[in-house]
Amino acid sequence: MVAMDEFHPSNRILMGPGPSDVHPRVLKAMATPLIGHLDPEFLRIMDDIKAMAQATFQTKNDLTFVVSAPGSAGMETVLVNLLEPGDHALICIHGVFGGRMKDIAERCGAEVSTVEAPWGEPINPDDVKAAVATHRPKVVAIVHAETSTGVLQPLEEISDIVHDAGALLVVDAVTSYCGTDLKVDDWGIDAVYSGTQKCLSAPPGLSPVSFSARAVEALDNRKTKVQSWFLDLTMVKNYWAGAKRAYHHTGPISAMYALREAYRLVLEEGLENRFKRHHDTHLLLKDGLEALGFTYLVDPSYRLPMLNAVKLPAGLDDASTRSRLLNEFNIEVGGGLGKFAGKLWRVGLMGESCDANHVNMLLSALKTITN
Ligand SMILES: *Cc1c(COP(=O)(O)O)cnc(C)c1O
Repeated sequence: MVAMDEFHPSNRILMGPGPSDVHPRVLKAMATPLIGHLDPEFLRIMDDIKAMAQATFQTKNDLTFVVSAPGSAGMETVLVNLLEPGDHALICIHGVFGGRMKDIAERCGAEVSTVEAPWGEPINPDDVKAAVATHRPKVVAIVHAETSTGVLQPLEEISDIVHDAGALLVVDAVTSYCGTDLKVDDWGIDAVYSGTQKCLSAPPGLSPVSFSARAVEALDNRKTKVQSWFLDLTMVKNYWAGAKRAYHHTGPISAMYALREAYRLVLEEGLENRFKRHHDTHLLLKDGLEALGFTYLVDPSYRLPMLNAVKLPAGLDDASTRSRLLNEFNIEVGGGLGKFAGKLWRVGLMGESCDANHVNMLLSALKTITN
């Protein structure tokens, strides 16, 4: 075989459900020369990343680190470590990602029950209250920002219900993290996971996670080995924080350089400013999309700023319009997932993709296409 050509991707504008655009400083950090994953300089970078993960999760949890794999691996890390065969897990499902948590919990050998809400609506706390009274679960899991529907799930009332029942609260914050407020300590979240390619605007492939003292106690009280070798926290945590920093797996060096730079950008901006930017830019997009005939799926009180789930105007074809956006304008927007395939668009305003220029580019491309 002859050598292949060098790959030159098109200059895409990423406005889908992730990955989002990445700041040039983050790309530059990825081109930094490699050092060993046990080099004292690399261990210092891991410590920096842990401190910035704690700051952005708004937590003091000591067991806060980054799983060397994407958001779904964070989900799996949390569930395989907290669930043993026979444990009861109550999974809240109001979109695709709640369904993924249920699948993983079942694979852990847990007994699983569910609380559901129609897609496009949040979970009703009263339903959680009734279900925990019936099932007395060990773990209740819920998605904070349902990327398949655009719903922002309020968590505080549900957190009280879960803790009154003596259970642990697991939260999927893959899409909400660094784009809207997420107070891990104040809201009593026991285990949380996210991803790097959404509002954090780093390349995909890593998953920040954090565990409360109560969650660590549940880990310490396990009677069986964690089903997954790679994700077993009893070993991983020695690489991240143990006195000896023992080898567990080869850390993804370049991705960690990128994450450290992405975190620096978040903290330079400040969390409150970043949340406000996502909110304000969402309102700008909303006005423009509604003027073109798009309508929002979700009620304004539960709408995500960074993931705009909109129904298409009559007469606008999903697949051909998205392919024109991509091929003629270099703009990626997301289609509907699951039962919304073909019916809905998911327009992302995440991290570096969240500014007025992105909004104006998309709206003007849509005006050209629909005229
Ligand atoms: C994107 C996403 C995931 C999965 O993350 P990957 O990095 O694609 O594995 C999980 N949950 C939610 C809510 C997401 O938006």
